[in-house]
Amino acid sequence: AGEDRHAPPPPPDAVEEKLRPQRLSEIIGQRAVAERLSIALAAAKKRNEPLPHILFDGPPGLGKTTFAGVLHNELGVELNLTSGASLDKKMDVMPYLTNAAEGSILFIDEIHRLPRAVEEFIYPVMEDFRVDVVLGEGMAARTINLPLKKFTIIGATTRSGMLSAPLRERFHMHEHLEFYDPEDLARIITINAAKLRATISDEAAWELAGRSRGTPRIANSRLRWVRDYAIARADGAIDLSISRDALAMQEIDSEGMDKQDRRYLDTLIRVFKGGPTGAEALAATMTLSVDTIRDEVEPYLLRREFVVRTPRGRVATAAAYRHLGLAQPEVDPE
Ligand code: ATP
Repeated sequence: AGEDRHAPPPPPDAVEEKLRPQRLSEIIGQRAVAERLSIALAAAKKRNEPLPHILFDGPPGLGKTTFAGVLHNELGVELNLTSGASLDKKMDVMPYLTNAAEGSILFIDEIHRLPRAVEEFIYPVMEDFRVDVVLGEGMAARTINLPLKKFTIIGATTRSGMLSAPLRERFHMHEHLEFYDPEDLARIITINAAKLRATISDEAAWELAGRSRGTPRIANSRLRWVRDYAIARADGAIDLSISRDALAMQEIDSEGMDKQDRRYLDTLIRVFKGGPTGAEALAATMTLSVDTIRDEVEPYLLRREFVVRTPRGRVATAAAYRHLGLAQPEVDPE
């Protein structure tokens, strides 16, 4: 353990890249998704055709980018990455379409952020690999229909509900990524600790897994923090007590929730009397963006049933009161 301790640390992105599975066989969990993708891959290879267009949805950090990278490695094709948030106009997306090589993959993260005009512009691309381009202006303007190479669009979104139906229907495969169970996260943590050349005990890996909100990206960041803590405070080996101390220092509680999660529950319970209240009101009170609340904070709290969504807004459950050590008020029988 720790033989590269004196080497300069690579920039953070490089560490994330090192931890990313490269092959389908290295993917942990998400079994059903991985199996369907392996069928699609085998068929594309045998027919010598591009993969079908694939839409991944699910909360951040569950592996959408990882899956896109794995598909590109398995096929040995070019991968181009962009984001719906940076494609404001048709002309922003145009180079990605005209430069796409035969069989290549275009990954569009946050695809729900594409403006409607850009979305409509890519419908014919997804259907039959053509775009309409307007040449010239005013009276002299004419439209030409430009053929493109056959390639694959992989879209990723945390909000599939915000996608228009026509866009959603143009994806042939819809894959929903769910939170990981602790077994899978413990395996990911053990494998990634080895990649970081750290030693971790099984108990410590399980402890981190149980406190990572079902999310591999969070598991990685907990692991990196605990590794640094073990190096600074001990001999670098990660055991159960080191893990607990390190996580306590970051105020990550027994459920893996951080300060922001607890602040959300606390705001819902104390300011809004347990709800129902809307995400906008919670966001304004917490001075966070509604997107952060919806994409990062709420999905796990909903999954763990600390919060439920009703037609009138979010409501804190008995488990939330219990977790914060607060008494739940009696409900008026109406
Ligand atoms: P975003 O939604 O923001 O694009 P994401 O869902 O694409 O996030 P990734 O960046 O792909 O999340 O995953 C984060 C990290 O989690 C990866 O670098 C990798 O180490 C780990 N990881 C994710 N999924 C898996 C998996 N199925 N098996 C092993 N490791 C995984």
